[in-house]
Amino acid sequence: MKLICIGRNYTEHIKELENERPTDPVIFLKPDTSILLKKQPFFIPDFSNDIHHEVEILVKINKVGKHIAKKFAHKYYDQIGLGIDFTARDLQTQLKSKGLPWEKAKGFDGAAVIGNWLPKSDFESVDNINFSLYKNDAIVQEGNTSLMLWKIDEIIEYVSKYFTLKIGDIIFTGTPAGVGKVLANDKLKGYIEDKQLFSITVK
Ligand code: ZN
Repeated sequence: MKLICIGRNYTEHIKELENERPTDPVIFLKPDTSILLKKQPFFIPDFSNDIHHEVEILVKINKVGKHIAKKFAHKYYDQIGLGIDFTARDLQTQLKSKGLPWEKAKGFDGAAVIGNWLPKSDFESVDNINFSLYKNDAIVQEGNTSLMLWKIDEIIEYVSKYFTLKIGDIIFTGTPAGVGKVLANDKLKGYIEDKQLFSITVK
């Protein structure tokens, strides 16, 4: 399976990192080895002094597809989740400045947190989902999928032009504003609406 991630999908987050607003979705992949195993703490890797949390809505693909038109995209997923795209921001900034790929900063072991899943049928519209991240019981990130530059079905259309989507693939749909550094002993809790979908400790 693969993890397909969308970058720069919320205007306020583009501003906070002083990135350009993209004309097409920014896409990168994380390997399956980046998935943080359930109930395990997140260990800050020794190659970074600036690991950031990026809370994101996740979509799990349940049907093989390629060149999926937007109007059919809703048939390719029936579960919505929440996760963290951990990013070694110092390393990413270095790589970006040289025009190099980001994989080392985004795809390292443990860099993909995947919380519990909710059936899509729980939501009236996938384009109006509130989600949030708490760090040590203070809210640090808050978003609503209506604020995405590319909505879930548009992401599926775009991504499937390049990659065949397979059952079990997971899409990270981008982070809203409020990304920030994590430190040892931080506790991160992620919510969709008022449901807690993950709780992890940083070590
Ligand atoms: Zn991200």
